[in-house]
Amino acid sequence: MNKYQVNENGYYGDFGGAYIPEMLYPNVEYLRQQYLNIMYEPEFQREFQQLLKDYVGRPSPLFLAERLSKKYGTTIYLKREDLNHTGAHKINNTVGQILLAERLGKKRIIAETGAGQHGVATATVCALKGLECIVYMGEKDIVRQAPNVARMKMMGATVIPATSGSKTLKDATNEAMRDWINNPIDTHYIIGSAVGPHPYPDMVARFQSVISEETKIQLKEKTGSEYPDYVLACVGGGSNAMGMFYHFLDDENVKLIAVEAAGKGVHSGESAATTLLGKEGVLHGSRSILMQTADGQVTEPYSISAGLDYPGIGPQHAHLFKVKRAEYVSITDDEAMQAGLLCARLEGIIPAIESAHAFAHLEKMKFTGNETVVICLSGRGDKDLDTYTKYFDL
Ligand SMILES: *Cc1c(COP(=O)(O)O)cnc(C)c1O
Repeated sequence: MNKYQVNENGYYGDFGGAYIPEMLYPNVEYLRQQYLNIMYEPEFQREFQQLLKDYVGRPSPLFLAERLSKKYGTTIYLKREDLNHTGAHKINNTVGQILLAERLGKKRIIAETGAGQHGVATATVCALKGLECIVYMGEKDIVRQAPNVARMKMMGATVIPATSGSKTLKDATNEAMRDWINNPIDTHYIIGSAVGPHPYPDMVARFQSVISEETKIQLKEKTGSEYPDYVLACVGGGSNAMGMFYHFLDDENVKLIAVEAAGKGVHSGESAATTLLGKEGVLHGSRSILMQTADGQVTEPYSISAGLDYPGIGPQHAHLFKVKRAEYVSITDDEAMQAGLLCARLEGIIPAIESAHAFAHLEKMKFTGNETVVICLSGRGDKDLDTYTKYFDL
């Protein structure tokens, strides 16, 4: 399991590491020393598994999508992360990290959020455990994502607007980092994707790896084999995709496809197609691939789906891209919206627009008819109904 996993220095090939201000070093270093010991304590695992089952509602089903299968001429299964409590895969990670924070003796939780999905998943587990919760969110996003702000407040979280820069996710992340520097003793920072300084990308991937762990068992039951031919997932920072890929990484016959958001078109200037447009650099504490100007300023990303609207990808994805273990493709807003509508009409499932990007790639694949495809349905589309209905004039 080592070729694609993090090494003892926190790197995946050329990517990863912990590029952090000196004042954060003690926090991140302590986490690095402790995370594996804590995560694999039997008592931790018992409580984690119990919460995944009774609180999150796992295992999430693996659903044979018959009408989609018929349309594309192959066998398509959906891994139903949309059925998790709070409606997406993000809760797998926040449940894991809140248990870790408890064991580290932390009393106060901070998080950053863009669309608000990670903020909601964090506020949820803080309420569950009775810990103080502060969520940093761009001032612009607070206006755009009002229902998620209401959810967080309902569960007792404090939502603090980030008013600098573009007033979106990047700025919220900066504010959260600043908070952590000022409160190193009592605070744990729950990062919401497989990004950030080591050990976060590895820790988040491990918590999300339950997705592929279950998929293998479920596929075996349904098809007699643990291995599909293709696995597809959308990529913002890359946590649902890492969870979906994790236990298939060493089975080189399984083709892994990561779907990024091309926004209004890869070369439109309004896109989040990081691997196509990005260059190597450092973002939010790790060396990865990110969209940047010639002089290294981070470019504002764009996607119709707020969850994919991120200028980078996690370092493990950068590595999988560079060594070509996974294929990185991109899908425009329009393609994703059509795929979301198609899934609703053919299967009675409204996917998050993020997840719809993965579905849209089916249009571009060629099948012989005997392949098995698993798509990570990372979240439900309830939060996107307004965008869908306006787009299709429903
Ligand atoms: C946040 C989100 C994503 C993107 O984040 P990743 O870390 O790349 O998984 C994808 N789908 C949904 C439903 C989300 O909420």
